[in-house]
Amino acid sequence: TSFAHFGFDEQLMHLIRKSEYTQPTPIQCQGVPIALAGRDLIGIAKTGSGKTAAFIWPMLVHIMDQKELEPGDGPIAIIVCPTRELCQQIHSECKRFGKAYSLRSVAVYGGGSMWEQAKALQEGAEIVVCTPGRLIDHVKKKATSLQRVSYLVFDEADRMFDMGFEYQVRSVASHVRPDRQTLLFSATFRKKIERLARDILTDPIRVVQ
Ligand code: AMP
Repeated sequence: TSFAHFGFDEQLMHLIRKSEYTQPTPIQCQGVPIALAGRDLIGIAKTGSGKTAAFIWPMLVHIMDQKELEPGDGPIAIIVCPTRELCQQIHSECKRFGKAYSLRSVAVYGGGSMWEQAKALQEGAEIVVCTPGRLIDHVKKKATSLQRVSYLVFDEADRMFDMGFEYQVRSVASHVRPDRQTLLFSATFRKKIERLARDILTDPIRVVQ
């Protein structure tokens, strides 16, 4: 597979070319077409596999389609991950590729300023990258609404479980409309992750790095 097979438009292809990636990684070859087709996905992949781009590129396509169908406020895509560092890393990739369509991304994570994050959320963004507990805090304080969210990603799900975030992860899923598209990435596929996948994904396709 080459990048041309994904059918991305020129704006996005331009940014991918600028990244100097020569070819899609295995998780991108397998995962991107599934995500672009609107299917739920379980990706078993480690850091370094290119998994971030595998969920960001189809997310951008999804957002551009959805924005037209459903104008309004609040994020269209949410990416949930375990740590502040990962939040910042994913947020920076979202900004890099979101530039193709002038999409805005906000990062909200535990330990950062509630007030500054709330302000950023209220200024508006199509993409929110977050740690689960902090996102729920903002939703409870009505700093943002998840009403428009239709693309939901859980990254490093096994690490979120190890850190004791299972309840928060499930809570985020329960706040998002059931007819969403959900993608779940994990380095391992243990029983607990399998159970979570069964509860929050619909008819998912599983790909292994
Ligand atoms: P990730 O597994 O998403 O953390 O990505 C690991 C690194 O691979 C990041 O620095 C990406 O910028 C880079 N990367 C993502 N996709 C590709 C690709 N197709 N070719 C080469 N590098 C890539």
